[in-house]
Amino acid sequence: MSTTPIPFSPPRIDDRTVKAVEEALRSGWITTGPRTKEFERKLADYCGVERVIALNSWTNACELVLRWFGVGPGDEVIVPAYTYCATANIVMHVGAKPVLVDVLDDFTMDPAQLLLRMTERTKVIMPVDIGGLPAHVEQIMSIASQARSFFKPSNEVQTMLGRPLVLSDAAHSFGARIGGKAVGAQADITGFSFHAVKNLTTAEGGALAFNLPKPFDHEELYRLFNTMSLHGQSKDALAKTQPGAWRYDVAFPGWKCNMTDLQAAIGLVELERYDTDTLVRRRAICYRYNEAFAKDPRFVVPEFYDGYRTSSYHLYMLRIAGSTEEQRDAIITAIAQHGVSVNVHFIPLPMLSFYMGQGYAMRDYPNTYLQYSHEISLPVYYDLTDAQVDRVINVVKAAVEEVMSA
Ligand SMILES: *Cc1c(COP(=O)(O)O)cnc(C)c1O
Repeated sequence: MSTTPIPFSPPRIDDRTVKAVEEALRSGWITTGPRTKEFERKLADYCGVERVIALNSWTNACELVLRWFGVGPGDEVIVPAYTYCATANIVMHVGAKPVLVDVLDDFTMDPAQLLLRMTERTKVIMPVDIGGLPAHVEQIMSIASQARSFFKPSNEVQTMLGRPLVLSDAAHSFGARIGGKAVGAQADITGFSFHAVKNLTTAEGGALAFNLPKPFDHEELYRLFNTMSLHGQSKDALAKTQPGAWRYDVAFPGWKCNMTDLQAAIGLVELERYDTDTLVRRRAICYRYNEAFAKDPRFVVPEFYDGYRTSSYHLYMLRIAGSTEEQRDAIITAIAQHGVSVNVHFIPLPMLSFYMGQGYAMRDYPNTYLQYSHEISLPVYYDLTDAQVDRVINVVKAAVEEVMSA
């Protein structure tokens, strides 16, 4: 058996990617420009929304949303306890309080828990599409509507919406589907990540899909977010290249998180082959794992399709039936000794020093802890071969045998 190390999720970079970036580099335009605009239009078409803005990360993009909505001290934002720190960190950045809720067995926000935690201070609800399986976003939208009767708007935008904003953390779920429709057209605003480890990458990057109800104007929002992402400047670099168009104004002290055309060049290549190639391969890998683990009572396999929600096959989140956290950690050590890289998604927020220090306690989110203590994410990436998948399966099964029967 081969012993070449198997990494966890290297990006798919080939001649096409390199050529596209080279063309952008040689085009004379390397910051936000024609490639970013084209990428945005194609993302919007893909998601079935009028407007998408591409920015430099999910984190900065979604933080802009909180700032646009006027979220600040005294406000609460509901976030699942089971997520990457970014989801809660941006709430801290604007001075508001993350209110954590427990998750379902599929790792996504429990709508019943959300209902219990909503108060008149709730300004934003952030479901997370863990591993690529969409949260119950439509149900969460209707729960947000139930808050109309007690929602206390504190500015014009909040008054216009009249209820908490649903900002979906779709960092894992570009290309996932809800009732046959691409993720992006369900929540008020959906945030994507194109970080190096994500399904569709631009090295670093992110995007927002706007899907707000009337009377919000998506064209106007798109312009506003562009300005917010560029110091509040009335013209971007491309607009200023027009002869004589040098003068600009700054209406407010904005931020700096635009996407470059080098990133967009990678994204355009990624997007073109996403449905027909990338997702096809990722799905095949996930189902090959499922075939090996589903009938084995020592494992609980992840859900990729429940008749309504379809995953983007971002992570293969395997669970070891009945393991303690310590046993799970020992299994990972045994797997690593055979040259296979695995991960845990995620260490729940209440277990991270900062959030522990803020007074959050793991015992308040029992299902989050339970799922976490069983979880091991296996390698999933385009270039992973069937033979390598089989090797991972054998290594995992041997490690579980070794640790769980000790
Ligand atoms: C990766 C990730 C983010 C952050 O994305 P960036 O583009 O790196 O800012 C947010 N939420 C989740 C769940 C993630 O996995």
